[in-house]
Amino acid sequence: AENRVTLGFEAEVKQLLHLMIHSLYGNKEIFLRELISNASDAADKLRFSALGNDALYEGDSRLRVRIEFDKAARTVSISDNGIGMTREEVQHNIGTIARSGTRHFFESLTGDEAKDSQLIGQFGVGFYSAFIVADRVVLETRKAGVPAEEGVRWESSGEGSYTLETLTRPERGTRVTLHLREGEDEFLDGWKLRAIVRKFSDHISLPIEMKRENGEPKEGEEAPAEVWETVNSASALWAKNRDEITDEAYNEFYKHVSHDFQEPLARVHSRVEGTNEYTLLLYIPKHAPFDLWDRDSKRGVKLYIRKVFIMEDSDKLMPRYLRFVRGVIDSDSLPLNVSREILQENKQLEKIRGGAVKKVLGLLEDLANNEPEKYQAFWKEFGQVLKEGLIEDFANKDRLAKLLRFSSTHTDSEEQTVTLDEYISRMKEGQDKIYFVSAESFGAAKNSPHLEIFRKKGIEVLLLSDRIDEWLVSYLTEYEGKPLQSVARGDLDLGKLEGEEEKAEAAAEKEAFAPLAERLKKALDTKVSDVRLSHRLTDSPACLISESYGMSRTMERIMKSAGQ
Ligand code: ADP
Ligand code: MG
Repeated sequence: AENRVTLGFEAEVKQLLHLMIHSLYGNKEIFLRELISNASDAADKLRFSALGNDALYEGDSRLRVRIEFDKAARTVSISDNGIGMTREEVQHNIGTIARSGTRHFFESLTGDEAKDSQLIGQFGVGFYSAFIVADRVVLETRKAGVPAEEGVRWESSGEGSYTLETLTRPERGTRVTLHLREGEDEFLDGWKLRAIVRKFSDHISLPIEMKRENGEPKEGEEAPAEVWETVNSASALWAKNRDEITDEAYNEFYKHVSHDFQEPLARVHSRVEGTNEYTLLLYIPKHAPFDLWDRDSKRGVKLYIRKVFIMEDSDKLMPRYLRFVRGVIDSDSLPLNVSREILQENKQLEKIRGGAVKKVLGLLEDLANNEPEKYQAFWKEFGQVLKEGLIEDFANKDRLAKLLRFSSTHTDSEEQTVTLDEYISRMKEGQDKIYFVSAESFGAAKNSPHLEIFRKKGIEVLLLSDRIDEWLVSYLTEYEGKPLQSVARGDLDLGKLEGEEEKAEAAAEKEAFAPLAERLKKALDTKVSDVRLSHRLTDSPACLISESYGMSRTMERIMKSAGQ
């Protein structure tokens, strides 16, 4: 056709394809999960668009996916009657890697095949997984609501280029046909395909259909009419009772909503009754996603209203500091005809979000109390993000403070395991403050000269060295009525921790050394604001400290590096 063009893939696509074929070969059947997952997303999108424009259904609102195979042609095809794509959309969605996090993904590749295949699993493979088993993939699609003549055909053998052409396609939606590679004939088998569908996609609420197999018609007999059977259970997983759901089904559902390859660390599934009714099924991943630090990342929790997908948005359903949470919230009370814009300011949605946050915090508390090893694994991946909560979520400050984990002089280990409650339980007689030191690295914190007196007296000090810690301690100024106190600030008063004798001795020394301090101050002139005799040091001769209410040294450094 004259409108046929051949286009090159982005360089990253080529690289991704190559890597995927090699590293996911042992898991090749996931291509079916990925393509079904796309069909299910396409059905969700159509349902949402049709809320405002029923005509988009074109008289066919029974959405489903169909899987077929053809032994003679050696093809497997997956077709949906979902939203479909325009030519521009095909080019944009299939010819490029539009997903956020891709850049991070490529940055984290090591060149070591074993490690990289782990990574590609975490990244989520999507449409291109078709090339694991196929050496030619054809995608035909037509967008809902556009004329039949505006169909599109995309074809590629996954080797650097693809072709695009316009075609007439009366059926709405998308059909993906895989021409199997040599040796992949095991997928030309109805039982095999059914087993894979049940394993990976049972929880998908969209019916997944396959033709009933009747065997070859006998001589002289007419071939029986086509009968499509639903292979999966095709009901929304979250709407079922907890005792009807296996761990395996929960885990597969997680992989579907999160695009993660691995199993989740923990989940909470709960139904909230009352005037604002909703069901939530939320998961905490085992590992941080690639786009954890990407501000534009949109992946998060999906909102449904009575099982109709409405939107996926990380900010409206979860605060930023819980942006690693994945899953669904399904509201019974929100009006179905609500637009995405109206939802931005919706009070009911805010309440749902508030309730969902409490459920997630409850889940974390549960882990911390009952499965401390799992909680530790969580903290390692997401602790820095959770700390943002103390700054962002004032209402839950106390609960969040209990979830914090620190390094301290008690363990002297870089691994953050100490809770504030443990710290308090180890406080010395007469100690009324929680002491901390902050520095740019764990090593610097641990070896800070400010700690000398504390180590000598056996007083525990928290060792802070994450970037966010400076902000953290400016918001978390006390815990359980005990102020947090930097050991590096001003005139450190150890209060009752020092005996009368020590105090008298210190006063006498201060007087004796006053002339020396005066001379040093003159010599250092404008470089320091004061020189004082200190009794904090036991091994080092001198150290720099900040004014009591001035900026701390680390904060000064952060401001400087931010260009302030
Ligand atoms: P992801 O699903 O994570 O976005 P994929 O690689 O699986 O990534 O798909 C890329 C994009 O291609 C999808 O986001 C979607 O826009 C489009 N797409 C893929 N399959 C379909 C389909 N069956 N119907 C409509 N759009 C599709
Ligand atoms: Mg996908």
